[in-house]
Amino acid sequence: MSRTLPNIPIVCGEEEIFDSADGSLPAYDPATGETIAQFACAGSREVEKAVAAARQAFEAGPWRKMRPFERGRVMQRIADRIMARREELARMECRDSGKPLRDAYWEVDCAARNFEFYGGAADKLQGSSIPLGNGWMDWTIREPVGVSLHIVPWNYPFQLIARGVAPALAAGCAVIIKPSEETPTTAYEFVKICREAGLPPGQVNLVPGRGSIAGDLLARHPGVDQITFTGSVATGQKVLAAAATHTIPCSMELGGKSPQILFADANMDAALDIIAGAAFLHCGQVCNAGTRLLVERRVHNQVVDVLQAKARALKLGKGLDDPGMGPLINKAQKSKVLSYYELASKEGDLLLGSELPSDPALKEGNFVRPALVANASNAARVAREEIFGPILTIIPFDNVAQAIEIANDSPFGLVAGVHTKNIDVAMQMSEKLRVGQVWINSFWVGLDVEFPFGGFKQSGFGREKGLEALTAYQQIKNVCVSFGA
Ligand code: NAD
Repeated sequence: MSRTLPNIPIVCGEEEIFDSADGSLPAYDPATGETIAQFACAGSREVEKAVAAARQAFEAGPWRKMRPFERGRVMQRIADRIMARREELARMECRDSGKPLRDAYWEVDCAARNFEFYGGAADKLQGSSIPLGNGWMDWTIREPVGVSLHIVPWNYPFQLIARGVAPALAAGCAVIIKPSEETPTTAYEFVKICREAGLPPGQVNLVPGRGSIAGDLLARHPGVDQITFTGSVATGQKVLAAAATHTIPCSMELGGKSPQILFADANMDAALDIIAGAAFLHCGQVCNAGTRLLVERRVHNQVVDVLQAKARALKLGKGLDDPGMGPLINKAQKSKVLSYYELASKEGDLLLGSELPSDPALKEGNFVRPALVANASNAARVAREEIFGPILTIIPFDNVAQAIEIANDSPFGLVAGVHTKNIDVAMQMSEKLRVGQVWINSFWVGLDVEFPFGGFKQSGFGREKGLEALTAYQQIKNVCVSFGA
């Protein structure tokens, strides 16, 4: 009996493999349950081919021989092609990950910005000259780290691929992308765009498949020189163990339980819009979602009332209809989030979230209502664990010192938001918070690839974005010359 081949292949250099030994898997629209794609699953044979294609491109391909400004031009063309297909890519991403259309446009725009930014940096990766005194010359050279593996989650797949791949290419690396099982569609479009823009074959390779098979084989493969992993702490630990088998550097972009700290003197209307947005964006499935709200006790009840009204007003729907909030990614995530809602009703005052949406149009999708847990303790599980759903845990505090203590009392340290008009308090908080990024009177800024992003503690290590990200993809070589004075 003949079997239907998938429409998303494994890409190893110029070869596209649709018929892999490990078969294929479907990808679903989380809003409707419809199958939207079928992707080939890589096993050991395809992993070997992908690594060989990347190694060949890195060792002998034209990319490293090109002048850096020429590499920058190819990268600018990738940005242009992404923008030329903005509408199509955003719609594809909506169906694949379930996010509202406006959020998907942002994702595509961000991907293009990464290529503009790092394309512009390709010819500015300078070393330094080190003074050693008479008769000595010493300088450093920045060399590409080699074959760079990018293991990507499902929540912002197109943007996250670009976020890691653009600096890797600017540095001169060859790349292998392992997309999530949940969202393989735009990854393949990304590879096609790179090819159309003139990126040499093998420079970017695509290895869809099961994380525990394809991802694991890639992470422990001696032909891989560096890993950029974005995903959960539990998987990150497995990837680190696999990387340790051949001692390669890793960048770890993991989860969070990020605090938003609201003082009574803040501009309340603006702050509460930001706070609700940061909790419920993409149904709470965002690594740096502001999922713990620390609020000055005297305004706690009034804040809860406003946030409750905002959460209640969020209209659920499928991403393409650009609703207030879309679905969760899959049925397992829906069960997990609902089990936390049940827990929340024991750990605080659960407001909203306990009823499933009744609209028949949402029946087949993975929809849940947003939830608030008021008067919670920071010791509660809903305050400590990353839930990855639309649930905001609200914890009262009495003074600045207590706010700092509660904010820092977390296994995570990705980002924090502070809302106050008091500049002294804002500066004190930014100094004391143990997180990779502090926003004052904001939370998420837009197409901001310019500044670094990454976490403290279990939120990971290494930095994405900004010029800092380039360091992950470069080796520093020092040359020291004695010319016999
Ligand atoms: P996940 O950890 O389940 O999967 C991430 C990727 O790892 C997928 O591609 C998966 O196939 C692969 N994988 C699974 N097992 C593997 C293994 N044994 N070896 C190698 N690869 C393996 O994460 P997810 O559910 O896709 O994404 C959600 C998580 O990602 C959340 O924790 C979120 O906070 C985090 N995230 C972090 C950032 C950041 O920048 N810090 C950004 C987005 C998402």
